[in-house]
Amino acid sequence: TASFDAEALRADFPALEQDVYEDTPLAYLDNAASSQKPTPVIERLDTFYREENSNVHRGVHRLSQDATESYEAARESVARFLNAPDPDQIVFTRGTTEGLNLVSSTFGRMVAEEGDEILLTEMEHHSNIVPWQMLAEQVGASIEVLPVTDRGELRMDLLPEMLTDDTALVAISHVSNTLGTINPMEDVIDAAHADGVPVVVDGAQSAPHMPVDVQALDADFFVFSGHKVFGPTGIGVLYGKRELLEAMPPYQGGGDMIDQVSFEESTYDGLPHKFEAGTPNIADAVGLGTAVEYIMDMDWNAVRAHEDDVLRYATEQVGGIEGTQIVGTAPDKTSVLSFVFDDIHPYDAGTVLDREGVAVRTGHHCTQPLLKRYGLPGTIRASFAAYNTHEDVDRLVDGLHKVRHMFG
Ligand code: PMP
Repeated sequence: TASFDAEALRADFPALEQDVYEDTPLAYLDNAASSQKPTPVIERLDTFYREENSNVHRGVHRLSQDATESYEAARESVARFLNAPDPDQIVFTRGTTEGLNLVSSTFGRMVAEEGDEILLTEMEHHSNIVPWQMLAEQVGASIEVLPVTDRGELRMDLLPEMLTDDTALVAISHVSNTLGTINPMEDVIDAAHADGVPVVVDGAQSAPHMPVDVQALDADFFVFSGHKVFGPTGIGVLYGKRELLEAMPPYQGGGDMIDQVSFEESTYDGLPHKFEAGTPNIADAVGLGTAVEYIMDMDWNAVRAHEDDVLRYATEQVGGIEGTQIVGTAPDKTSVLSFVFDDIHPYDAGTVLDREGVAVRTGHHCTQPLLKRYGLPGTIRASFAAYNTHEDVDRLVDGLHKVRHMFG
């Protein structure tokens, strides 16, 4: 970890420097929910609104050309970030949730028929469950669920038998937001493709923590959110294979997504504009472009080593506190530590931690079926980013000792 200077990185993130209560500095450990923003992203938004703000694609005037250029440059940055073959295969969305709804209501409607099965896993976020349930209800398909082990790994041994002639698609998270498990995505995709089944990857928690190569993965679709990769809220990305995106009907109708419109009939624009009806979230797309450039400038071997070191340290320290139990102990994990106390409600713990300046999340983390699997009402979740340090973990541990003292 000597090659990675987390303290230097912290200086780029102004929100980390504040006191949240009197003389109580912030220890921000809620990165799986949303990460903080570095100065270059904040400044890029500022510059956009001060100097370039205008609508895109339609204007002949100077500002509109500047805004269009910046917006499309951001698309190119995102394409490089995912190693997508072509920026045309990058669709800007509102976030992971909208990406999944887009795919389910367009591609899903194309491939899922009555009697078909949609294969999910037990560790999915609600946003990778509910859109597929809505689709299943509409077309008369069923939802099938690949279970997880006690340690929080997928039951890969069951995958071959769960992929059947009726499987229309697989939708699966790359990294679990509750357990931190890194799923063996290439194996899942290879197995699905061997049966001719397309795979939708929820990359909300992998994009922030590992270099993603959609071509090496051979993912059919990959979605993520800007706000978890040091970018703005309200912007996200859908990547899709060209032939699939081209075959799909549009998601929403409106301006910017058309070729010709008459009252009898309309024809649609090509990729990616077919999927971007209306004025897009221009400024935040531009900010996301800066965020992924910022990430691509980091030394990822060093970042991974640092994040693994912080997770290992936190696991040891928190696991050593009397009455705690770690939830999610897969060997292949990143940046999430979920745990419970035997006898203290997660919400009580979270409230005490907050007064100590330690920001964690408590509850079901939008994964109710997973929590039910473990028989828990919720967990306390500390989630890390590259700017977190052992000192943040020490603050968490001190806070947890206070929790023990107050409630134990
Ligand atoms: N999937 C996973 C695995 C997530 O962690 C999240 C965010 N918690 C989402 C989907 C939804 O992302 P968003 O709320 O940004 O649309």
